[in-house]
Amino acid sequence: MWKTRVPPKVRDFMWRALSGCLPTNVQLRIRHVPVEMVCPLCLEQNESVTHCLAGCRLVWPCWQQLGFDILAPSSDSFQAWVRGFIFQLNDDQRCRFFMLCWAIWRRRNEWVWRKKKGSVQEILYVADCTLQNWIQAQDKELTPMPSFLSGEDGVSSWKKPPVGKLKI
Ligand SMILES: [Zn+2]
Repeated sequence: MWKTRVPPKVRDFMWRALSGCLPTNVQLRIRHVPVEMVCPLCLEQNESVTHCLAGCRLVWPCWQQLGFDILAPSSDSFQAWVRGFIFQLNDDQRCRFFMLCWAIWRRRNEWVWRKKKGSVQEILYVADCTLQNWIQAQDKELTPMPSFLSGEDGVSSWKKPPVGKLKI
């Protein structure tokens, strides 16, 4: 898992998911946090790690559109589900699997904390885009050109002052 070429935050996320440390509603309840255990997305089943990342009927379409086959979980063990196919995936597929798990969890949190919904296409886009941006950032020979930067990146340009004003 640690050798997979994904952003460190995604590797850390996967470690937490596989270790049962992800703060889903079921995990919070086990730790005596007074929350409802139900899934905040479907409101039908308890939100275990497996349900949250794969079993939820609102999440499963993401896996169906990933582009390669992953079996639906047959138990509530996230580790068992991952072990069932992870060794058959090639490097690229394993990266995309990790990224999608992370993007699904991110979408879940945006719904819980900001009531912001995300479509299947948006989740897949965030997963792929985040990975591509990270891979490009690792390329030490790539020199970013100013045209790639936007105002949000801190780029400013000189503007002529109005008539009668000095610019210092
Ligand atoms: Zn659900």
